[in-house]
Amino acid sequence: MSFNDIKGQKFAVSYLKKIILKKRIPPTLMFVGKSGTGRFKTALTFAKALNCKNAQADSCDRCKSCIAVENSVHPNVKVIGRNSSVGIGDVRSIVNDNLVPINEGYRVNIIDNADKSTIQAFNSMLKYLEEPPENTVNVLIVRDPFNIPETIRSRSVMVKFQPLSDKDIESYLISKGFDSDKAVLVSHLLNGSLEGWEKFSDESFIKKRKSFIEEMLLFFQGRSDISSLLEKWNALFPDLSSKEKAEKFFDYVSVLIRDILYVSALGEKDNITNFDFLGYIAAKFSVTNKSSLERIYDIIKEQKEALLTNTNPQYAVVDGILRMKEVIV
Ligand SMILES: [Zn+2]
Repeated sequence: MSFNDIKGQKFAVSYLKKIILKKRIPPTLMFVGKSGTGRFKTALTFAKALNCKNAQADSCDRCKSCIAVENSVHPNVKVIGRNSSVGIGDVRSIVNDNLVPINEGYRVNIIDNADKSTIQAFNSMLKYLEEPPENTVNVLIVRDPFNIPETIRSRSVMVKFQPLSDKDIESYLISKGFDSDKAVLVSHLLNGSLEGWEKFSDESFIKKRKSFIEEMLLFFQGRSDISSLLEKWNALFPDLSSKEKAEKFFDYVSVLIRDILYVSALGEKDNITNFDFLGYIAAKFSVTNKSSLERIYDIIKEQKEALLTNTNPQYAVVDGILRMKEVIV
């Protein structure tokens, strides 16, 4: 992958190319944006470009160095936190493995999910981020920069990643074998991010999602009960941890509430996510009680905040549903 292959991130890419050309690389960069917008791929391409001798401010994607980065075996490039939260041991592995970059290249430490690091990991990062060795750059991949301690945030240069456009998502899905009708629907559902697109190649997932959304809409009309709602929900993401499931639950519900508010209060149809339910929402929620929906929106926000503390995630979901029900009835 070279910078040309990164879609929808014109500003981030042109900034990175500029600093490589000028040979002025800040010691710590923070790639900020939703997951599924290309932050990690861009970080890897940046690492390739800093070590590639064949292309100017880009990766040729063919030389030994580029191939080594792609396959996670380049000694100058270290990735931590890719599939789990960053612990103190991961940070130590970067700090202790403090080698001089080979081939006059650049040492690039990519810290994925940096905002999910433990406090100890942050503390052990601090000194290293303050005084990194020469020709070393740290790339922190972050969803919400305010989950990063101020001491680290203030030492980083922020590079923002935009949500992807529906068009970019559609063409990506078509390149993965989706037919165009399905690509249009799924690009709406993905809401600016490619995260989780693979799930939609599975027809049974699409059916389960549809049946959950139907149930949720019935619930908002006071026509469904908690147990059938939970049953439909639990069928949708059987593999996720209960915390991830709870987070996703509130994401789904808040997007649905937003859609209903868009359609019923603003008559807006272009920006709705649950595109396939547009007709149903317009017909059933045309005279909806806007203040109750706004109240539900607040409840979802509060429940999501509760998830950041030690609240039991399953309890947070059930409590959230019960509180929503009180508003509806
Ligand atoms: Zn190369």
